[in-house]
Amino acid sequence: MLRAADVIAQRVRAEKRKSQPSEQQDAVRQRNKRRKEREDQGVVTKPYNLSIHGTKQEQEDFMLRLKSICTKMGETHGKRLTYRETLLQAMSAWLKSHDEENDHRLDLDCGGAGLPFRARNGFSAASPATKDEPMFLATVTAINHLSDQLQDHARSCQEQLVVKKKNGVHMQGHAGKLTLCCSAKHNVYWDSSPHFYGKFLVNYRMAHAYFTSGIRPLQYKKICDAAGMGKIVDKTLRERYQPVYSEVVEEFAEASMAQALQEETAIQVMVDGEDFAGISIMSDARHCWRKNAMFSDVAFLGDRTHRVIKLITVSQDEEQYSQNHELVGTQQFYEWADENAVNILVHAHDNNKSVNKLVENRAAQGHRCVNGNDTWHATKGIARGMKKITMGPKYKERVTWHPELSDKAGSIKTHVYWAMKNCALDPERLRGYIDNIIKHYKNDHTGCHHTSNCRISGDAYKPSKVLIQDPKAEKLLVDFLHQTVVYKNAENYVHAKDTHYVESFNNALLVYHDKRIAFGKEAYLLRINLAILDWNENVDRDHTSEWRCEDAAAPRRREPKKQLVEKKYTFRKEVWNEFMRRVYMPNLADDTVHDQAPAGNLDQPPADNHDQPPADNHDQPPADNHDQPPADNHDQPPAGSQDQAPEDA
Ligand SMILES: [Zn+2]
Ligand SMILES: [Zn+2]
Repeated sequence: MLRAADVIAQRVRAEKRKSQPSEQQDAVRQRNKRRKEREDQGVVTKPYNLSIHGTKQEQEDFMLRLKSICTKMGETHGKRLTYRETLLQAMSAWLKSHDEENDHRLDLDCGGAGLPFRARNGFSAASPATKDEPMFLATVTAINHLSDQLQDHARSCQEQLVVKKKNGVHMQGHAGKLTLCCSAKHNVYWDSSPHFYGKFLVNYRMAHAYFTSGIRPLQYKKICDAAGMGKIVDKTLRERYQPVYSEVVEEFAEASMAQALQEETAIQVMVDGEDFAGISIMSDARHCWRKNAMFSDVAFLGDRTHRVIKLITVSQDEEQYSQNHELVGTQQFYEWADENAVNILVHAHDNNKSVNKLVENRAAQGHRCVNGNDTWHATKGIARGMKKITMGPKYKERVTWHPELSDKAGSIKTHVYWAMKNCALDPERLRGYIDNIIKHYKNDHTGCHHTSNCRISGDAYKPSKVLIQDPKAEKLLVDFLHQTVVYKNAENYVHAKDTHYVESFNNALLVYHDKRIAFGKEAYLLRINLAILDWNENVDRDHTSEWRCEDAAAPRRREPKKQLVEKKYTFRKEVWNEFMRRVYMPNLADDTVHDQAPAGNLDQPPADNHDQPPADNHDQPPADNHDQPPADNHDQPPAGSQDQAPEDA
């Protein structure tokens, strides 16, 4: 009733106002004009309008409440607040209280900061206040140890142990060193990782994972930093873990290559029987960077097993010019082969001139070694070279190129490839097959192979390509064929060798080796050796299915694509076992473990223990711990324990 009376009084006042001089049309217009001028000058801000739909009743109700809040909010200032100020304050207050309420509810649910721990539905729950807690790696054994410690504490004290709010967690690498405390001020120290010889197991495992994955140091750092899971700093990785790890991996790689050589020989003996005289190989070089490489690797793969039997890394210390690295590496390979009585028969490579020469020289000295240049590179060159005689500007037609040749590039490439495969190791026959291309395209098939279409079909044969009739076209094609590398060095191509395996090996190396990153020699060799282990274990592995596809980039491809089974990586497990055997039993590993403190010295942290701030060394009871009852001595490991004072991080 009172409200209705207010409204009526307001309306009366409004009616009355209309008759005042300041509300007359001219006065209002003047006022509006002045306001507009002040707005344009930037003296006052423009009003913004809020449209709220509703009935007249609702609108009045709304305004009444708004005005009432304006008045109440202004009471402390002794002046009514404006609509704008009131609405802003009301909205912010609501948002703030809403967020606080939410966080508080979540924290109450699960024991957030400043609250006792509470499980929710039998689990610990994440909340806004706890979502950024540090993570550490723990193992089953470590958890069992914690359970044991808690039980010990409970025997003499009923209070709940919780991780100390302040400095309760210290990360050492990926391991957490935790201090739990109860309201009676008992401290329990717990390490998330089992110890061995003053080292944390989880850090060794993570170092192994980092090395074996082939990821770059920076990638490892990024993952760890983003996850907040601690990390092993680069220097520690390099100085503490890498030397032993590299050594183990190198030995495994050596063993893998020795086994590959053995298998290669065994297969060749099986094929050749009494005539066995040696094995065949393929090789290729790869530079560590794109330009002026510090290291180059020359990989040697068995022709039958496709496994790496030897890999030689040539550094700039040995040979200044990286373009000579392949030759130096190949020379070293032959020195090794001679020393170990490994006879090489066909050496396939991608037509490196100096390697060709080296192999020829060895043949001249009485070795049975011959070059087998890569067929793929040779035929690729043919397709490229043919372009010059199959197309060109109009004014050079029939001079540098001829339309009668335009449709033949693909077929000639295929034919040369076929000729290499079917020449029965006879260079003259290979040249003859290539020469016959001309006759075949002149529709004279007397010299063609008995298996080819033109011979099988006999008189019914209809040439699929334009016949060569112009002597100019014939001359262009003859000249082209005679200067191809296959024709000129036919003896290097009679073996029809293919080096694509060694090229894929160099490609596979990229998983471990990023060409953009410069590694030190030890890290470089470690990554190479990991790549060898990976390759030798996985090359030619089984495939689950084959599928054929049309590839626009390779329209003449006949081979189906294979869906390979997943890689196994058994070498990882073996490397890990041996790595741990060596660090766990340093005395057994002869003098190979250089980076480790002697057994008697374990209680002293090493000098380079920069990862652990001295103040954090809670292997000693903290100073504020003197009120601890002697009976409660369960939180300090027994003195002299070998498992004390982990120093790695
Ligand atoms: Zn207690
Ligand atoms: Zn023919």
